Amino acid sequence: METAHAIKTTAKIQEIFHSLQGEGLLLGTPMIFVRFCGCNLRCLWCDEPAALEPGSGTAMSAQEALEKISKIASLRQTNWVSLTGGEPLLHIGFLKELVPLLKKNNFKILLETNGTLAGACKALEPLIDVISMDIKLPSSLDINWKFNSSAPLLPPSAKLRVPAGHPEGAGVLERHRQFLAVAPAKTYIKIVLTEASNEEEFLAACDLLKVFPGIRFVVLQPATQANGQKPPKPEQLKNFLDSAWQRLPQPVRLIPQYHPFWKLR
Ligand code: SF4
Repeated sequence: METAHAIKTTAKIQEIFHSLQGEGLLLGTPMIFVRFCGCNLRCLWCDEPAALEPGSGTAMSAQEALEKISKIASLRQTNWVSLTGGEPLLHIGFLKELVPLLKKNNFKILLETNGTLAGACKALEPLIDVISMDIKLPSSLDINWKFNSSAPLLPPSAKLRVPAGHPEGAGVLERHRQFLAVAPAKTYIKIVLTEASNEEEFLAACDLLKVFPGIRFVVLQPATQANGQKPPKPEQLKNFLDSAWQRLPQPVRLIPQYHPFWKLR
């Protein structure tokens, strides 16, 4: 195993574990998940509330994380590592140490991100194999949440349809636009839909995706029923699918979360 020569940074990690990828393009692929603590968004249907608090979890160096990942990999015969959370790109200093180590040890990297930290992604992207990026519809976001002042909004630089429904909706969309410009060919999109998702915000997301025809794949994911959030009704889902198929140049698929059914670890 290749190791780090100088350990500089630690990150708060909720857990490192083996399972099957339960969502999206790599559905069913065995992976080692590194779940980071802390997130700069608050989605109403978040299924990882324990990972949202930056103070939770265990502080780990890149070398310690690599050792744990390598040990699991030797038992499970997988070379995929998912960087997930929370929002992994909040830990960019740590990732700049961990990701080169993982690549030197022949791991393939999936980055699962909320798509709001384009600068951090740009620094890491050459070493990432696949990026799974969420587009957050405004109806997904807790109305009491706003970007904190240490992560100010970027000024809009493209004319996009601005969805109503959350005061930060336009800012989130603009951050998504800047993120998508980083590595569209490595990126697939996930849009979680609930009973509260509406046509206006969905069309705004489609307008954005049309600007990036090189994106690999678009997944519409009905929310898993939890936290009072319900998946869309069948007629709503059909309308979203029809809209996407009519408007988008990318392949579009409807794929629910599978890990709540599998219950595998
Ligand atoms: S971006 Fe992900 S981790 Fe953050 S609140 Fe939303 S679902 Fe949860």
